[in-house]
Amino acid sequence: MTFPLPFFREISLLVDFVIFFQGIVMGLIQAIRGMNDILPNEIAWWQRVEQTARMVMEDFGYYEIRTPVLEKLELFARSIGESTDIVEKEMYAFADRKGDLVSLRPEATASIVRALIQHNLHADPLVRKFYAIGPMFRHERPQKGRYRQFHQIDVEAFGVDDPMLDAEVIYMLRLFLERLGLVGVVLHLNSLGCPSCRSSYRILLQSYLADHAETLCPDCERRRHTNPLRVFDCKVERCQSVLGDAPILGDSICEECASHFARVKSYLSQLQTPFLVNPRMVRGLDYYMRTTFEVITDQLGAQNAIGGGGRYNGLVKDLGGPDIPGIGFAIGMERLILLLQQNQQVGTPSPRIFVAALGEASRTRGFLLLQELRKEGLAADMEYEGRSLKSQMRRADKLAAQHVVIIGENELSRGEAQIRDMINKTQNVLSLDRIVPTLLEMCGKDRKSSNG
Ligand code: AMP
Repeated sequence: MTFPLPFFREISLLVDFVIFFQGIVMGLIQAIRGMNDILPNEIAWWQRVEQTARMVMEDFGYYEIRTPVLEKLELFARSIGESTDIVEKEMYAFADRKGDLVSLRPEATASIVRALIQHNLHADPLVRKFYAIGPMFRHERPQKGRYRQFHQIDVEAFGVDDPMLDAEVIYMLRLFLERLGLVGVVLHLNSLGCPSCRSSYRILLQSYLADHAETLCPDCERRRHTNPLRVFDCKVERCQSVLGDAPILGDSICEECASHFARVKSYLSQLQTPFLVNPRMVRGLDYYMRTTFEVITDQLGAQNAIGGGGRYNGLVKDLGGPDIPGIGFAIGMERLILLLQQNQQVGTPSPRIFVAALGEASRTRGFLLLQELRKEGLAADMEYEGRSLKSQMRRADKLAAQHVVIIGENELSRGEAQIRDMINKTQNVLSLDRIVPTLLEMCGKDRKSSNG
């Protein structure tokens, strides 16, 4: 009898609920809401995404950088913008024991720019492209695809203003998603202009919003004075309906910005990278200017953005560094993996070899052999409970081992072992000192790159 997939989902939901309820009754400590454990049965997805990211980014000349998860609060307030949702509502900010205001990082760009300035990295012409992988923190209302601790793959490139780099960065993002086999996503593209063309647009938008002030939510009513572009980020339906007829930024951008945008689009077309110009996409952070982009899916409900980024030419200077341009993007790993899981399957890592031994002396010999196999780079395992051969074979099967080395007391007395090929169901006797070289040969050249 087979059960449909939703049946198992419901059972697993029920089990989660029972464990959760038990936890409450027994006073067990649970993880903080919106902050998830990534369990061994999911880890293969994470490793695959991370490995693919490293390969692609390094091919494009990016170097890995790791910055602290805790930074001075001022760094984010000054870079992301005081009147953005992230800074106003979502930061994990607090005073530390000394009273200094700090925050868990809500995104990576500000920290990387800080590190660039602090360590004078911009002086090195080779190391101006960085990538980072790690957790970010935003106090949002948790739901599918939206968490309080989530992970991003982040990319930043400094020192080049040429639209060729904008197109290259977007092309790299596309290639990364393609390598993962992601389907059904659309690249949205826009230009936010520069601070000077944006100031004339700001006046236009402010006057439009003033005409609709009574419809706006209290947050947007305030933002229309302080930072009107941020009204576009508002999720309240009545604000969104007002914006339907609002003036479009693209109509106000200066000649230089328009030409930059035209060249980005032309390079992308030459790179056969499809995009959709979305004049209402403004991104939720203040530091962006000119090219901005987002990767959108229709398969994850409300949390439809997989990643996004753009140019931020003034940011390094604003944070006290030299006047050098920058561009980057961040991909949300949870959303990316949710989407991959809906369309693909990936196995959990398993040992290639299992050592089954019977009797104390055989178990000791098996244990030593196991360590020799591992030393040679072969993923191998055994069980330590001294169970029957049948139950050891069951364990090997469950672990999807390809070869089982069987050492019984008789084999040991003859200095031999049996190797069972679990896929072809064949079995051979070998002298014990031939086991490691034979398995090395059998597992072949791919042993370093795969699970064993
Ligand atoms: P942002 O830094 O807001 O542009 O976000 C970049 C990407 O990070 C988004 O497209 C999402 O994939 C991911 N992301 C942002 N916030 C969250 C969150 N609260 N939970 C999960 N993923 C998120």
